[in-house]
Amino acid sequence: MFKIVMSQDTDDGEPESTSSSELQIKAPLLADVGILEAPSWSVEGAFDPNDIGKSMSQRLCHWGPLLAIFLIVTIGMSATIVFFHTWPPLDTLLGFINLIVFFTWNYMSLTNFLQATRFGGGFVKLGWKPENPALHKKLQYCPLCEGHKAPRSHHCARCNRCVLKMDHHCPWLNNCVGHRNHALFVKFCFFSIMGCFHAAAFLIKNIVVTIYLLYYADKTTRILPHDLPITDIQTMIAALTGATLSLGVCIAVIPLLYIQLWSVYHNMTYIEDYIVSKAEARRRYEKFPFVYPYNLGWRRNVLEVLANGTFPKGNGIWWPIRADCTQFTFSEEQIAQKELKSRHARIRTIAIGYNGGKFLGLLRLGCYAFFCQPLTDGRRVEVKAGEKWAITRGSKFWVYAKKVEKQSYVDAEGAVQYAFVGTDHLARGWFPRVCLEVAKTE
Ligand SMILES: [Zn+2]
Ligand SMILES: [Zn+2]
Repeated sequence: MFKIVMSQDTDDGEPESTSSSELQIKAPLLADVGILEAPSWSVEGAFDPNDIGKSMSQRLCHWGPLLAIFLIVTIGMSATIVFFHTWPPLDTLLGFINLIVFFTWNYMSLTNFLQATRFGGGFVKLGWKPENPALHKKLQYCPLCEGHKAPRSHHCARCNRCVLKMDHHCPWLNNCVGHRNHALFVKFCFFSIMGCFHAAAFLIKNIVVTIYLLYYADKTTRILPHDLPITDIQTMIAALTGATLSLGVCIAVIPLLYIQLWSVYHNMTYIEDYIVSKAEARRRYEKFPFVYPYNLGWRRNVLEVLANGTFPKGNGIWWPIRADCTQFTFSEEQIAQKELKSRHARIRTIAIGYNGGKFLGLLRLGCYAFFCQPLTDGRRVEVKAGEKWAITRGSKFWVYAKKVEKQSYVDAEGAVQYAFVGTDHLARGWFPRVCLEVAKTE
């Protein structure tokens, strides 16, 4: 259905192909509608700055933060060893400045990383309800936190809490990236790239010069050991270790920083980008534009996130928005998308049980289920033969579904009707498609 609609909306740039209906679905410009500042509605009971979920020691006892700290410390130490060896900071002013600049990158990476890990995105208080009951139906409800979701917040399955302006759950932080630590996370990415680039450039240059002089330089010229940038094997090992790790970090973190800068530029998180793409497809079909409420122009977007010291501006609950939207435009769109998704869900019966594991239990269900797992760490869910599940999306070998039960009700005309209703909000997640009963659709 959407395919036909989207093909009408091809952006081929030819004026004669632009029909009046396509012109109608263009949203007005921000310059024409202006910005509404965040309302001063109470946030008491919505967010507690001292509630950081787990303690710092619990956050750090995980492979992600341990590996990140190991990399920062190892790159810092190995580069420092080579700096002292080849460009002694106490002998020349430039050597001293070089070391201080490198230490600044290294120190800023570590402190921003630790703060981002500690604070996380900020959690919506469990069981939160806006004071005004009229707002309840405009916000999404989180059955797991037993409270309403603030605009832009999402439930993180890993943190098991609703996170303010959630971007993604970062395994390196062992915490979410969201409203509170967005600036810290962007700064961490920036400083670690600068530090690794600095280290990699210096170390690689000295490794290359040393190898060149030792093996390829004209053998008739006498090269004394003190002419070599690196003169002993221990320093060479430090240089090789530092160069390899810092190159690896650069390759891994540059795309991450690019995505984060895109997100700051548009004031749109990774999750919101996905929801907006679905909203736009839906609205193209309905022939009126979806307006993303939080994009306030890039200068303002950047200021909202980066320019207020440690934490971004705002309380993370109510937001400055485009004046042609409300605080609830985005939440209402999400509610509409969820209703649409559950209307289009397919009810299927389970034929083969699955224990919800990622490893041995899966091999029993075949190689495809084992090797073609979905590329998400979304939860795998246990299913038992005979149960009914409502499937909302899937890949060739896996499906995402929630468990439903057939319930009867009496309609307005007094007739008994049946509906499939989700009863257990924990019973949702991914399982292999082979578990489904073959070709039996209800
Ligand atoms: Zn929640
Ligand atoms: Zn999380």
